[in-house]
Order: sequence, then C-alpha cells, then structure tokens
Amino acid sequence: RFSFCFFFFSREKKKKAGSRLVDKGGGRAYTICQGTVKERNAMSNTPEGCTHDCGSCSQSCGERKQAPQSFLENPHELSCIKKVIGVVSGKGGVGKSMVTSMMAVLLNRKGYSTAILDADVTGPSIPKAFGIHEKAQGDETGLYPARSKTGIGIMSVNMLLETETTPVIWRGPVISGVVKQFWTDVVWGDVDFLFVDMPPGTGDVPLTVFQSIPLDGIIVVTSPQELVSVIVEKAVNMAKMMNIPILGLVENMSYITCPDCGREIQVFGESRLTEVAAHNGIPVLGRIPMDPALARVVDQGVVELFEGDWLAAAAQQLEDQQCPRRGKRARGPRNILKAAAIAARRCCW
Ligand code: ADP
Repeated sequence: RFSFCFFFFSREKKKKAGSRLVDKGGGRAYTICQGTVKERNAMSNTPEGCTHDCGSCSQSCGERKQAPQSFLENPHELSCIKKVIGVVSGKGGVGKSMVTSMMAVLLNRKGYSTAILDADVTGPSIPKAFGIHEKAQGDETGLYPARSKTGIGIMSVNMLLETETTPVIWRGPVISGVVKQFWTDVVWGDVDFLFVDMPPGTGDVPLTVFQSIPLDGIIVVTSPQELVSVIVEKAVNMAKMMNIPILGLVENMSYITCPDCGREIQVFGESRLTEVAAHNGIPVLGRIPMDPALARVVDQGVVELFEGDWLAAAAQQLEDQQCPRRGKRARGPRNILKAAAIAARRCCW
C-alpha cells in the first residue's frame, strides 16, 4: 500500500549514506568551534594576527563567524533543467495551479519542453487538470514524471497515493522531504521550464522549496479579494527575504466578461492590482477573468485546450529571459547508457 512512500524513504536513507547529499549536520548550519566552553570563554578576545578568515583558522575566539551554508540540492543527475519558476500565492483557491498549468501549456505551445513539479502536496490539482490518473513509475534510477497529452512532464503526490481521494495526513517534515525528492530523485530529463506549483502561504513547505530548489524567479498569483488584504504582501516579502527574484503579479478571477456586451465587470470592485504591484515594486504580469470555460477545461482534464491570451506577456517575458543550462548533463559511459535507456522509455526526450 505504501510502496511508493517506502521507495522515497529508502532512497533518502541511501542518499544520506552516499556522497551526493550535503551533510547539514542534523540541520546545524554552523562551524562548530573547537574546545570546551571554558576554553572558548577564556579566548573570547580576538587573537593576535587574526585575518578574520575563520575557514582556515582553528582558533576558538569570540569573533568566530558562522560559516554561510547553502541548503540548495542538486537535481537528479539525469535532469537538465534550464529554468525553474515557482508559482506562489498567499492563500489557497486563488488559481495558483491554474496559472501554473497555463504557463506550462503556453511555453509548451511555443515549442519549449516544460514540466510541472506539484509541490502543493496537501491540495494537488495538477494531475486532474491534465487528465492524468496513472501512477508514477520508478526504478533504481529514480522516479519518472507522467507525460501529458502534449508531452508536459508532471510529478505530483497524487500519482503516489493509492487513490486520488486518499488524504495526505503527513507531518510537515515528511511533506517537505517528499517535495525535495521531487527535485532530487525525479528524472526530469531535458526541460526548458520547470514550473513549481508551490503550497500556499509562508509555512514550512514553501520555505523548504525556497531553500532547496534553485528558483530562477517566482510568479505571485492573487485574487481581487486577496489584494485588499496583506496576505499577498506576506508571500511577496517572503520571496524578497529569501532573495528570490519576483517576476511579477498575476490577478486571477480579476473580472467577468459580460456574455452579451463583452464589457468587463469587476465583481469585487475596482482592482487594486497596479497599486499593490507598485507598492511592492514588482511588475504586473497579467489579469485573468473568471471564465466558466477555464473551469470546464480543468474539470474535464483538458487544460491543454484552454483558449485565451491573458498570460501571453508573461510567457514572452520568460522566453526573453532564457538563461544558460543548469543542472548536470549526463556524462561518462555509464550515464550515457542510463540516458539512452531512459530516452528509449520516454520517447519525448
Ligand atoms: P489554487 O491552486 O490557488 O488552490 P486552483 O488553481 O486549484 O487554485 O483553482 C481553484 C478552483 O478555481 C479550480 O476549480 C479552478 O478550476 C477554478 N478556477 C481558477 N481560476 C479560474 C478562472 N479564472 N475562471 C474560472 N475558474 C477558475
């Protein structure tokens, strides 16, 4: 019943014993000072000849600095991901998964290889939007994302559960570990844009994603009601504090279009989008109307058929900002063989 969970945890254990994971010393990100507390207290003044380079010094003085340590994880060795874009929101239900799906579809339509890492573990809705009901496949090399009808790679916790209605009743660290493994253990292959559908809010799991996955930027999704509160600003400020570039703000369910006259009706009053964007110093990426056709394509699992150019400018911006390849390319005879075996199984790559 929990074979996939077992797969995850056994791999995690193996990796800890191996060399690929950075040993964070039980979560301590400090350089441990040598000597007893008494000795350290006795040497609390800066010693003579101090160069302030604590990395090459064995002295234990009061001036000793903590060594900065990165928590970033490497992707799977057979993953070659050019750009990683997080999609965040202050709270759930504002259309974050909708925007994630639409961005992946739009860039896929432009000819890029796109994928979605569904990190919204307790409310995963990506597989349903793409009509994916199969289970994730895995072997000793790693886990393989499912492929949508147009070739978008997708990994979600729903593809690991016994049934789609099984709730994820896991504690925070377990959820964070699974999300991290979606990055480290999934064989994403060659991807131009990997979109990470982040869990809403500013809790433990978003923090893990920010710290362990090297995001190139984030898109903040909001709704008109959220814009009148400070919730969206919390999400924006979290990204700023973590030094993640904010690509811009998308207002979903911004208005409805009158089916008779085509007029825009702002159901929740005048939008505060430009005001909030200006206040936070971030650009507006787009406004999406509340559209029954959008809800329908998601419900029917055919989000790839959506019509609308609301996020065209956002997709163009990402296309314009293409950066050099990151991640490890498969090297050496062993990896070439592995890559060939995977390519044969996953013909889209
Ligand atoms: P979140 O990821 O923020 O929790 P979702 O993207 O899952 O939100 O959206 C919540 C629900 O609202 C879904 O059923 C989705 O189909 C619907 N929805 C989202 N955006 C729109 C929209 N612009 N028009 C109509 N329905 C929408």
